[in-house]
Amino acid sequence: MSCIFCRIAYGEIPARVVYQDDDVMAFHDLAPQAPVHVLVIPRQHLDSLAASKPEHDVLLGRVLATVRNVAHDLGIAENGYRAVLNTGFDGGQSVGHLHAHLLAGRPLGWPPG
Ligand code: 5GP
Ligand code: ZN
Repeated sequence: MSCIFCRIAYGEIPARVVYQDDDVMAFHDLAPQAPVHVLVIPRQHLDSLAASKPEHDVLLGRVLATVRNVAHDLGIAENGYRAVLNTGFDGGQSVGHLHAHLLAGRPLGWPPG
């Protein structure tokens, strides 16, 4: 299996997991860009948000709800956070397995680069 996030989902590569269930997984980013930087993935491999289909909408909702729940559990919901899905080349996506970034712990600039 070549997809790095599939390998994390299967436990073949270690990750600092903060939440997991049958459908989704949340773990700390290897190269954090903010004091809190967590990635939320569906266990099922989807190349990107653009490649997802209406049949994945419930799963996409689970990804978003997991961002909300992890933010609450990590105590960052009150100060605020940013959820980002880099998608495709121009979106800056470097890992081809759909993932949401959860960034928090400092004021985040806008617009992004
Ligand atoms: P993208 O650029 O695709 O939106 O985000 C990919 C993210 O995955 C990057 O922030 C990168 O640091 C993170 N990443 C890449 N490989 C690994 C890994 O093996 N483990 C973890 N925890 N994060 C990774
Ligand atoms: Zn994958």
